[in-house]
Amino acid sequence: MNLGTLKLFKYIILFSLLSTLLSAQSLRPFDLFKKGIEDNNTLLVIGGIQGDEPGGFMSASLIVSHYTITKGSVWVVPNLNFDSIITRSRGRFGDMNRKFSKLSKKDPDYDNVEAIKKLIQADNVKMIVNLHDGSGFYRKNYIDKNHSPYKWGQSSIIDQNNINVDKYSNLYDISKEVCDYINKSLLKKQHSYQVRNTKTKDGDIEMERSLTYFAINRGKAAFANEASKALPVHQRTYYHLLALEKYMDIMGIEYTRKFALKEKELKNVIDNDIYISFYDNKINLPLSRIRNTIKYFPLNKKQIMDFKASNPLMVVLKKKNVYAIHYGNRRVTRLFPDYLEMSNINENIKVKVDGILKEVKIGSLLEVRKNFYIYPSKDLRVNVIGFSKKYRKNEAGLVISKKQIRKRFSLDKNGKIYRIEFYKGKKFAGMLLVKFDKNIKFALNTNEFFKNKI
Ligand SMILES: [Zn+2]
Repeated sequence: MNLGTLKLFKYIILFSLLSTLLSAQSLRPFDLFKKGIEDNNTLLVIGGIQGDEPGGFMSASLIVSHYTITKGSVWVVPNLNFDSIITRSRGRFGDMNRKFSKLSKKDPDYDNVEAIKKLIQADNVKMIVNLHDGSGFYRKNYIDKNHSPYKWGQSSIIDQNNINVDKYSNLYDISKEVCDYINKSLLKKQHSYQVRNTKTKDGDIEMERSLTYFAINRGKAAFANEASKALPVHQRTYYHLLALEKYMDIMGIEYTRKFALKEKELKNVIDNDIYISFYDNKINLPLSRIRNTIKYFPLNKKQIMDFKASNPLMVVLKKKNVYAIHYGNRRVTRLFPDYLEMSNINENIKVKVDGILKEVKIGSLLEVRKNFYIYPSKDLRVNVIGFSKKYRKNEAGLVISKKQIRKRFSLDKNGKIYRIEFYKGKKFAGMLLVKFDKNIKFALNTNEFFKNKI
């Protein structure tokens, strides 16, 4: 990702956001991630034009977080209609994919639509793939209610067979190639893909207002890829990723990904490879199987929540006095704050894990088999949340095993991860986590996380 341009782009968005703020409604801007090395053959991937199609935006977000582009250039907008994603609606202010021909400046989606139009028209963008989850299974001939020409799922959509451009003009051939590629790796025969040509210019008034039609009329090859809403999200994601990989291949773009594109592994990545980090790594939370509510969560007294997330679809939203962590359509947990002033720990923390001395950074997760021990230090007070010994001011200098911690205080639903909090006087200085489970991996690299702010 090219940070410079990203920042610049965020400023542009910020300006357009400011103008929205001045009008009645303010909407969350989308994010743009530039991957690979920018060139004149850029693929623009768009997810989340409709907020209730998680297969599409989850796939786009995984290209951001779990793919490295090793040759060529890919731009990804994983959360075009971010407010609708968070509220799980198709479109909070109507269907955004019908707003690309005419749109009133008063429309709350106006700024986001204008901004994505600019990206679509950027000189270096040569192909656009807009990701959707559609109903049922598209079939050229009517089979039954769910497999028919009226359904959208499992299809590659084009507005017409060809467009008059130098590169990628043969929309039908490309779309067919993508379908053939997906059809070699179907999870079930029933999931097969077909090309669907909406023949938009022959009078499809609905589709004339869509993003792809806007794009082809600006001389850009554009496709919509539809997975079926009848499939679980990870399976929809599987098909979108297969399609995206083929589009990249057709454009000569190369990549590596951090997981094998297999059903189970993909589900595991989506559900479990998710983290959020607060206050410059003072707290690093694994969100896999996290409890629905977490009480007495240390938050900055000024109520400003700085966080970094492992996935660009994550946000923290404040409602009354509770902070909800959202991940796409899911609300993963709610934090009930314990407002505290913050302090820093610059040195490593000295601990013994199963009798072995270690020095760890604040924010780390300790894998423990039997017990742990935090070395006492002059100005640090230690609080092991849920530790059952009668109240002590400082729980450093004690050998603590799992059975001494009450299970209901675990961070996760499995009762395996617990909090060790550090204080300097009354100020919160950071957190370690202990997990009594070998099977949870914690290969965090928070440098790759996505900065955000409420
Ligand atoms: Zn859609």
